[in-house]
Amino acid sequence: MLEKLLERINQQEFELLSDEIKQALSEHHLWMHRISMAIASRTPIEEPSFTEQNAHLHCKFGSWLRNLLTDEQFQGDEFDAIDELHQKLHNSGRKLLLNLNRSPEFDEETYANFLTQQREFFNAVLKILEFSIVSENQFDHTTKLMNRRSVYTILAHEKHRMQRTEGSHCCIALADIDRFKAFNDKYGHDVGDIVLEHVASLFNNTIRRYDSVARFGGEEFLFVLPDMDIEDAVIAVERVRLQLAASVVEHKGKELSVTASFGITQLCPHCDINGSLKRADVALYRAKDLGRNKTVCVDSKDLFKDISRCSVDPDGKQLEEFITEHCTITEH
Ligand code: GH3
Ligand code: MG
Ligand code: MG
Repeated sequence: MLEKLLERINQQEFELLSDEIKQALSEHHLWMHRISMAIASRTPIEEPSFTEQNAHLHCKFGSWLRNLLTDEQFQGDEFDAIDELHQKLHNSGRKLLLNLNRSPEFDEETYANFLTQQREFFNAVLKILEFSIVSENQFDHTTKLMNRRSVYTILAHEKHRMQRTEGSHCCIALADIDRFKAFNDKYGHDVGDIVLEHVASLFNNTIRRYDSVARFGGEEFLFVLPDMDIEDAVIAVERVRLQLAASVVEHKGKELSVTASFGITQLCPHCDINGSLKRADVALYRAKDLGRNKTVCVDSKDLFKDISRCSVDPDGKQLEEFITEHCTITEH
């Protein structure tokens, strides 16, 4: 589930998430510090935020978590587990404080339970914090998109999902900016970077919420389109291609046009991820051969019907022949 977050939130949101977790944890440390001091000094705490039935909703961590859980992208097992552990921890803390009022005896069992829950709670939160911090580095600085390494995590996740759920789909599309070198040569590297940012942001804003786009190489991008069959993927990618072609990059009073070529195929549930990427690459290079600003689709549906064929991993010319023999190619 945590991998899903990579598809849904961007670098800035990960940075914000890490900061919020750190702050919420430090507030929680203070809460636990006060309870421990109350137990050690046998001095009850009367504040409702410690002793009320729903004390977990009063603490800053609790209100931060409540707020987070209203956002659909954070709903899932990991965050639910933290919500539960947090509630349990507050209940134990509350019980310890109420017992302080009732009896002068030290309630060792409840205190030991409290410490165990505290450890479990912190471990669960630290797991998310660690993921969030690591994820901050999974993005490319120029385009703010996921980088090549992190998109492989998404591809592996999607492949695994398809293996588990028969009949599910996922398409991929490689895009390469047309004649990008000319922008660098004519206007300089900085303008080249501005063009990259423009393309990245248009790609990112044109896809559905559950699709992903990553910077795959210099001026090459990879789209991951879960739950989309190949026909719908062509429609989606064509929409992106046409929007890019209709857009302009403003530079020193001039309007620069930019286009890209696209190669689409399905992510194969059986073969190596690189096998699917190679087919998308062949499609992309056909789109370039057709004159650029084109989309070519390699429909590999029939190939997947025979798993033994998926293990064949040809390269170069043999790959082209293999695709011609086993796949259906369409040009747009
Ligand atoms: P084609 O239509 O065949 O794809 O032509 P092209 O000019 O886009 O492709 P080519 O591979 O000849 O050139 C890609 C250029 O992209 C070369 C490289 O200097 C430039 N490039 C790669 N990464 C960056 C970057 O981060 N910033 C800038 N400004 N340029 C980059
Ligand atoms: Mg290229
Ligand atoms: Mg190019």
